[in-house]
Amino acid sequence: MLIFELSRKGRRNPSQAPHAAPGLNAIPDDYRRTSRPLLPEVSELDAVRHYTNLSRKNFSIDTQFYPLGSCTMKYNPRVNEAVARTEGLMWIHPYQPDALSQGAFAILAELERALAEITGMDAVTLQPAAGAHGELTGILLVRAFLEAQGNARKKVIVPDSAHGTNPASVRMAGYEVVNVASNDRGMLDAEALARMVDEDVAAIMITNPNTLGVFEEHITEVARILHSKGALVYMDGANMNALAGISRPGDYGVDLMHLNLHKTFSTPHGGGGPGSGPVAVKRSLEPFLPLPRLRHASSGWSWNYDRPQSIGRVRAFYGNFGVLVRALAYIMAHGGEGMRRATLDALLNANYLRKLLEPHYEIAYHAPSMHECVFRHASNGAIAKRLIDYGFHPYTVSFPLIVHGAMMIEPTETESKQELDLFADALISIAEEVKENPELVSTAPHSTRTTKVDEVAAARKPILKWSR
Ligand SMILES: *Cc1c(COP(=O)(O)O)cnc(C)c1O
Repeated sequence: MLIFELSRKGRRNPSQAPHAAPGLNAIPDDYRRTSRPLLPEVSELDAVRHYTNLSRKNFSIDTQFYPLGSCTMKYNPRVNEAVARTEGLMWIHPYQPDALSQGAFAILAELERALAEITGMDAVTLQPAAGAHGELTGILLVRAFLEAQGNARKKVIVPDSAHGTNPASVRMAGYEVVNVASNDRGMLDAEALARMVDEDVAAIMITNPNTLGVFEEHITEVARILHSKGALVYMDGANMNALAGISRPGDYGVDLMHLNLHKTFSTPHGGGGPGSGPVAVKRSLEPFLPLPRLRHASSGWSWNYDRPQSIGRVRAFYGNFGVLVRALAYIMAHGGEGMRRATLDALLNANYLRKLLEPHYEIAYHAPSMHECVFRHASNGAIAKRLIDYGFHPYTVSFPLIVHGAMMIEPTETESKQELDLFADALISIAEEVKENPELVSTAPHSTRTTKVDEVAAARKPILKWSR
């Protein structure tokens, strides 16, 4: 039911007088509406019930386990929401004078320092608003760095196990994408790579751990090969919850990378809210980082715009500040040892599920799993839908593309053993159903208001507008 269908002509919230908006008279006639907007006419109670009931039809991390691989749908501590909503932080304005923004500057500087330490890099920009935005920023940095040396080069190498946004970012930055296949262990083959790298290659863009949940064991060798030809190593670090506190990309030859604060660092992912994709770089790339940069002097913090080699702004103002506050609160609450334990728990949970499920489902790659594991099954889509009947959100279906029938499962560090056992039991029981009662699975879900939908029609002929 749409809220428009609840609408009844003239229905109002009685406690609200019409035209009560203060300052309405200050709006010049030219800018005022001449007709009423087409809004639903409902009472306050109608509106509250409508949205509350809608929210109860949804899956969410607050109600159910959400093992959506590659997305890190973990539970984020509520206390970090409270910190981000601290009055002085919530109402701050980016045009506020520097003298009144010193606390906010200190938060940004401290977060940059913390992320540099976690990644083993030298400098960080907090501006990019998402992971893919960080990728684009990163490849523009690669271009600026190489141009300063006289030749921007032409190609960026992207393994077939990379996240789908990687080739898109490469194209948007004006480079050609060159694919390199991974081997049967789901890893980049250093020898095949060595044959591809020439003086036209600007960089490799490597997701690590990659989308198979596998750590690129030859990453040091990969970096050596690229560097020997004057090319750079960009790491997609969206999966940093598999590494933080254990392994630092800066230590194994990565020149620049992005992080997804809305995966690893305490902002909920997938809620449609703002995200953040900071980019961390080695010192040689620092002069090119987006404008402005924070500067500290005896008079305090201020913005430095005097940076002639910068790629310029990539976003209005300085990043999604609330997300940055949550990230710093999360990092400080955990400390180094806590971050490390969170990472170890993420790895333990993924490997525990893998062991429980391996007797029942075919694992896609025989390499150690990091924070997620990928199985394959011909009925991967139907099994995912059937999981809904068991009270779980589906895993990621048919991604990564290099695994036919992929079932990509990421439990994250925040789930308990009890929950993982229930989830494994559900998948094992569905594997039996597929054999004994395939109809039950292929027509799932049965417990939802809307049952199996025609996905092709939904994609090709979506009904996006309600008409009276
Ligand atoms: C999620 C993800 C991205 C994209 O991040 P967005 O914030 O959705 O743009 C890129 N790479 C990997 C490996 C990811 O998991």
